[in-house]
Amino acid sequence: MGKQEDFVLRALEERDVRFVRLWFTDVLGALKSVSVDPAELENAFDEGIGFDGSAIEGFARVYESDMLAHPDPSTFQVLPWRNEGPSTARMFCDIRMPDGSPSYADPRYVLKRALTKAADAGFTFYTHPEIEFYLFKDMPEKGEEPEPADRSGYFDHTAQSRTSDFRRETITMLEQMGISVEFSHHEGGPGQQEIDLRYADALSTADNIMTFRTVVREVALTSGTWASFMPKPYTTHPGSGMHTHVSLFEGDRNAFFEAGAEYQLSKTGRHFIAGVLNHAAEITCVTNQWVNSYKRLIGGGEAPPYICWGHNNRSAMIRVPMYKPNKGPSTRVELRTIDSACNPYLAFAVILAAGLKGIEEEYPLPREAEDDVWSLTPSERKALGIKPLPPSLVDAISVAEDSELLAETLGEHVYDFFLRNKRAEWEEYRTQVTPFERDRMLPVL
Ligand code: GLU
Ligand code: MG
Repeated sequence: MGKQEDFVLRALEERDVRFVRLWFTDVLGALKSVSVDPAELENAFDEGIGFDGSAIEGFARVYESDMLAHPDPSTFQVLPWRNEGPSTARMFCDIRMPDGSPSYADPRYVLKRALTKAADAGFTFYTHPEIEFYLFKDMPEKGEEPEPADRSGYFDHTAQSRTSDFRRETITMLEQMGISVEFSHHEGGPGQQEIDLRYADALSTADNIMTFRTVVREVALTSGTWASFMPKPYTTHPGSGMHTHVSLFEGDRNAFFEAGAEYQLSKTGRHFIAGVLNHAAEITCVTNQWVNSYKRLIGGGEAPPYICWGHNNRSAMIRVPMYKPNKGPSTRVELRTIDSACNPYLAFAVILAAGLKGIEEEYPLPREAEDDVWSLTPSERKALGIKPLPPSLVDAISVAEDSELLAETLGEHVYDFFLRNKRAEWEEYRTQVTPFERDRMLPVL
């Protein structure tokens, strides 16, 4: 038993913890939880807690279904929304096979593998997500348009608004769980919110995003509202993206920073951007994994449907934010495609892999987009060499099916399961007769 495990066992007593939830994430990004009695924890640290992997989306084939959840003691936190009576705590788990090897299906392991590859090249990967989501008055009935929790817009400060109370409550809980929040504000759509987490290493950030979604949903429930990370809940309002600022560090040095270089962006930074642009189409089905994700990408509302980068250009898929003269170490790039409903472990793994590939192969950085890419005509974009991202889930799957980078990064099992599952989602979707068709066609055809 290591020091951290001892700390957890002591904390259980000191904080009167009666339930310990072991958390892990399935391949599609849903949080799974099994509650154990604190008395079982010592055993869980030593041997793991067994479960049937074949019942978890994407985890295992039936004939090799026994898996073990091993709690990671560094992720121990008491849940702040369970503060009456005895406490409940949680830990994230690594999933292992009965022989002790890591499960090839565990998204946390997929990310760890990508991070190890970066570490072998001398890099640590940091991420800082800006998470957008909607708050509705209630969980909408089937087929009903959801009613937003407020009618405010971008950066609105609304007195007595239930959504600013909601943000305050959410942030307080996140901070109680050791998750620092940098900014929060009302976003462009009615009821739409944004909360930005402080940057951290990518594994902690992915864990933090899973926690964040749970906290947001819990706070929404207690304030009588309903939160959703669906990428595009309304046709006529902006979707919910998860713009993510990324950087690589070599020790304490920001590897994207070079004093005096254009935009203070080092060669490493330029190759990283080139890698993400080069492989953008292949990784889109992971960063934007739902049929509905593409309604956001192509639906306006400041989402980026074209493959290009720009300095401080919000219409570009990758933006190099304006630098502050004395803040070289904060040099970073912002990826604007990724949405709030992705599996953060897989999404960070594929973004990192694409960027590293650019560094390894020294991909040249294409010219930056200086115009508002949204307002150019298709032929102007073509002349500038700006290609579109896949416009629908099926297009994204088709590109992904030929991607070596994706197969290698996700590993064969996750890659196969993910693409099969996404194709099935598309097949089910494309056979639906929608209200749009009935409204348009029944009266006239
Ligand atoms: N909600 C927009 C999107 O879907 C982004 C708005 C913003 O610039 O923050 O990406
Ligand atoms: Mg935003």
